[in-house]
Amino acid sequence: MSVNYAAGLSPYANKGVCGIPEVFDSPEELQRKVGELAQLIHDAQYLVVHTGAGISTSAGIPDFRGPKGVWTMEERGEAPRFDTTFEEARPSLTHMALLQLQAAGRLQYLVSQNVDGLHVRSGFPRDRLSELHGNMFVEECGKCGKQYVREKVIGVMGLKPTGRYCEVTRSRGLRACRGKLMSTILDWEDSLPDRDLNRADEASRRADLAIALGTSLQIKPSSDLPLITKRRGGKLVLINLQPTKYDKHADLRIHGYVDEVMGQLMKCMGMEIPEWAGPTLCETSLGDPFAPPLGKLKTEEEEEEKKTKKKGSQVKKEQKDGVAAAVKREQEVPPSLTSVKKQTAAVTDSSSQPIKTQAARNEAGSVNGAEHKSAYLSENTDQPSGPKKARTQTRAT
Ligand SMILES: [Zn+2]
Repeated sequence: MSVNYAAGLSPYANKGVCGIPEVFDSPEELQRKVGELAQLIHDAQYLVVHTGAGISTSAGIPDFRGPKGVWTMEERGEAPRFDTTFEEARPSLTHMALLQLQAAGRLQYLVSQNVDGLHVRSGFPRDRLSELHGNMFVEECGKCGKQYVREKVIGVMGLKPTGRYCEVTRSRGLRACRGKLMSTILDWEDSLPDRDLNRADEASRRADLAIALGTSLQIKPSSDLPLITKRRGGKLVLINLQPTKYDKHADLRIHGYVDEVMGQLMKCMGMEIPEWAGPTLCETSLGDPFAPPLGKLKTEEEEEEKKTKKKGSQVKKEQKDGVAAAVKREQEVPPSLTSVKKQTAAVTDSSSQPIKTQAARNEAGSVNGAEHKSAYLSENTDQPSGPKKARTQTRAT
């Protein structure tokens, strides 16, 4: 299918500001800023990255509002240029760097406005990913919410029926759900998927560092999410060639090609960028994306200590509290510990992994943070997305 999926959307007047000239930092400035970014990532406890079409241009998929973007060309009465199809597009260096940052425990959550499916096909764990505008490869049951990740693009847009039916077997008897499968791609007036938006919102609230990568931040509500982190005392980094209207809120602005910035960043952090070994599907990561942060646990511990000091004479009660606190802490295992436990299990299980995933993991040079429940893109994904009411609509600003 042509990557000009935009041609399949309904006409819409306000597509945001297009064709703003690009800005480039000098090589020295870029290097200095990348160093600063590496330090911010190093210091962060919870990093959320927000990606836009700018990270897929090097994969041959045009962006929307860049100098050669889909809407920019449309304004000029010209057709955008496509160098690939969605099925043939390979994840860019940036996609693979993000995969590695997650695997290394540096990136906690990823929010994307892209519909090209490249994050999912790169093997990024879907439980740490919100695709706010849908995915060309995903269709969803209108009845039970089960999502099916396909190897080929769905070919239907605007949340319309795809002509296929849900095959989930109901618990009682052998009758399948048979709900109508729907496209997950939003049209202009469609509401954002509840589950993805809620999780993106939750992650943005938890984050102490938000990085927006290759997006001009013009589509609401996606563009507001990085600001949530900023308003709650976190830091905001914008990496984009064009200026954005949130530039004044950013702690750091980097004007360079995202692949170049990410390449330098990974080198600076001493991390390898894995090679892509074909479409890989990963449903769940190690650990809980929304587990209590380490910082919170420390505070609780400190408070416990304070209390203990105050009640120095009440020895018996102190002991009781100590046990209760220990039990509580046991339940709230910090994410890193959870990861270690699960990683051990994942390594033991690896003999049963298909070769493709194994190779990808070895190339990554580390125990991948992804469990890779099923290595190939398949229909076997179970991600009910919940009710569809109270969705928030997309709009250009
Ligand atoms: Zn169903």
